[in-house]
Amino acid sequence: MAAATRGPRRELAELGAWQRPLRAQFPIVAGAGGDGGDGSGPPRAAYLDSAATAQKPQPVLDAVTAYLTTANANAGRGSYPWANHTTARVEAARERVKAFLGDPDPRRSSVHFTGGTSEGLRAVARDWLPGLLADGDEIVVPFGDHRANLDPWLEARDLLARQGVGISVRALPCQEGSGDYDPAALAAMAGPRLRFVAATHVHHVYGADMNVHRIREAVGPDPVICLDAAQSVGHQPVSLAGLDVDFLVFSGHKALALPGTGAVWARGARGPAFVPGGWQGTPNTAGIVSLAAALDWLDAAGTDRIGRWTSALASVLTDGLSRMPAYEVLGCRTSLAADTAVQRRGSIVTFRHRAIGSQDLGFVLFSHGFMVRCDDHCQAGPGPEGGSVRVSLHVYNTLEEMENLLTALATLQ
Ligand code: PMP
Repeated sequence: MAAATRGPRRELAELGAWQRPLRAQFPIVAGAGGDGGDGSGPPRAAYLDSAATAQKPQPVLDAVTAYLTTANANAGRGSYPWANHTTARVEAARERVKAFLGDPDPRRSSVHFTGGTSEGLRAVARDWLPGLLADGDEIVVPFGDHRANLDPWLEARDLLARQGVGISVRALPCQEGSGDYDPAALAAMAGPRLRFVAATHVHHVYGADMNVHRIREAVGPDPVICLDAAQSVGHQPVSLAGLDVDFLVFSGHKALALPGTGAVWARGARGPAFVPGGWQGTPNTAGIVSLAAALDWLDAAGTDRIGRWTSALASVLTDGLSRMPAYEVLGCRTSLAADTAVQRRGSIVTFRHRAIGSQDLGFVLFSHGFMVRCDDHCQAGPGPEGGSVRVSLHVYNTLEEMENLLTALATLQ
């Protein structure tokens, strides 16, 4: 953890010459725009909501324009040049996803394109999971993460129950308040009836890296592990080789690709092969082109440095907030600068004001030019009353934005 030893400001100073030209490639944050397109926002507003969806660099926009203006057609259907070209682009994008994720066995795995993580997790739950499970089996899923990683598993249980197959759904154990999983408690749940574990790579509220590489060791070689990587892919290095999971599901639109993009990667080594059910209509070809371009851009920029940059910014914010008694940072309270073995805070910092509701705080922050998320962030289970404010960062955010945000927050003490 570089920032833990060097300190976040030094880390940011060292990476500044790398980051500035990258930020300049995002027209919406670096250009003259940023006012909502209709004058509804303050000029040069800071976009601090990349966990919801990320902004797009010019090369991704260019790739989409080039595709739509030279070869737009349907994929896997026609045999004329534009159609063949489109089919080849879609197939190449599948291999691009595998390479980006460091797939150790790309000949056996498969990639299915979706509109985002919710659709991907639901496809696994609806089209694949029922074929794995028999009466009396158990699955373990997170009850405190994003609803997208809970509802589909409960729906699968209900579907199976209607077919006379009773499975039990147990909560993935986690440590109080932090969101971090508890591998010892999980190991105690392992057994021959435990067939499937769903987990989240980086928590979308607490920003915690959930130590998911420990899950395989805890449950043993047999259960299938499905990872929600919505907040890690595109934000930090993600390598399948080190994770030992069977499904990895992510949102392309959070990884700099167009809205309505995402993918399910399936290892294909345990249980039935993943084949999405039903008739698959026309794919989002422009979106898939944008995803391949986004992964190229991220690899060239370096996901390691992107992760270091955003973690250092998050550390500055967390440290500043922890010096203001009016605010409470949710989840892991220590920043990378203070070194923590249990959790690593990525690009997300969520906090609340002890006296001001999150909606009011969000309104005030927007009047200062900050676009943040303020509600319960689609978290399953009860969150803090009044919601919370989430600041989520990407490569285009700056130290100046963090300092200005802290200054604005300090006026509300
Ligand atoms: N899982 C997590 C951890 C998320 O943060 C999100 C998006 N906030 C989702 C799932 C859902 O992603 P999408 O909106 O792309 O379906």
